[in-house]
Amino acid sequence: MGQEISRRTFLRGGIAAAAGLAAGSIPGAAAATAQQKEAQLATLLDISKCIGCGACVEACNETNAAKYPDPRKPFPRMYPNRVPVEDWSEKQDVDDRLTPYNWLFIQQATVNLNGEEQEITLPRRCMHCVNPPCVKLCPWGAARQLDNGISRIDSDICLGGSKCKKVCPWDVPQRQTGTGLYLDILPSFAGNGVMYKCDRCYDRVADGQLPACIEACPEDVQTVGPRDEIIQKAHMLAKEMNGYIYGEKENGGTNTIYVSPVPFEELNKAIETGKGKPHLEPVKDTMAEANNLAAAMAIAPVAGIAAAVGKFVKLARSKQ
Ligand code: SF4
Ligand code: SF4
Ligand code: SF4
Repeated sequence: MGQEISRRTFLRGGIAAAAGLAAGSIPGAAAATAQQKEAQLATLLDISKCIGCGACVEACNETNAAKYPDPRKPFPRMYPNRVPVEDWSEKQDVDDRLTPYNWLFIQQATVNLNGEEQEITLPRRCMHCVNPPCVKLCPWGAARQLDNGISRIDSDICLGGSKCKKVCPWDVPQRQTGTGLYLDILPSFAGNGVMYKCDRCYDRVADGQLPACIEACPEDVQTVGPRDEIIQKAHMLAKEMNGYIYGEKENGGTNTIYVSPVPFEELNKAIETGKGKPHLEPVKDTMAEANNLAAAMAIAPVAGIAAAVGKFVKLARSKQ
């Protein structure tokens, strides 16, 4: 049976594991505490330095290829057919938008700067929100936020229902059908794959290394550090270049802070937006909305149990 887990094994062992593990692992408390915010690492991106060479995109692909989906085909049919099939496995080379096989892309804008037409390029990926709705509202506990502020989707647990994408103000997570836990438990009824996005190279960071895109950049566009220091640097840089900041306040604050010589309103008009191509609009704090706050509080214990079940499934897989 290889990587597969039988539904019976899943239900029997998973629920038992959940009972034992859930208590200490509830991932969805509704708000980020001040202490959590302090511990978070943020990235500063100086857009004025980016030359659009794509070395960061290449490095991201090389480093994270082992985490990309390897779907099983043909895909099982869904009843009812409410979650559409999304298949990027034949389009793995697409690099001008976010896909399950491309977690970072370069956005381009032609703008008027100091009376001259100029080409601006900027790397786009998950913003790693300080209080991420994708994590707080994932009903299955598959999206988690680490203490250092990195949000990641556990591909061993995700069912691909795409709640994370619906609640993400930038529609960042991208689905691949035919992979993940749903195939082992309820292939016709649950989810329809796994959601993928930048995990800020959490494994490299845990090893004391820099995220691959930061290390590969020849222009030192990105700087990483404690969020309060990064915010201070961003303000100094913005002052020096008479520029603008994006990400400090958006969605209640993110751990990705862009500094640009051009107003983000102008940039947003000039970039191509749409599916897999995030905008640069102002974003209000989605987790401050009463319905999302209440949903997060309600989901937290269930997500804790589900995450514990997922841990059991991982363990069962490793023993097969
Ligand atoms: S590697 Fe650096 S300069 Fe090149 S596109 Fe990426 S951020 Fe821009
Ligand atoms: S940008 Fe979207 S996917 Fe990334 S942490 Fe924020 S809500 Fe989640
Ligand atoms: S932090 Fe890592 S996963 Fe995220 S875009 Fe950079 S290289 Fe890719």
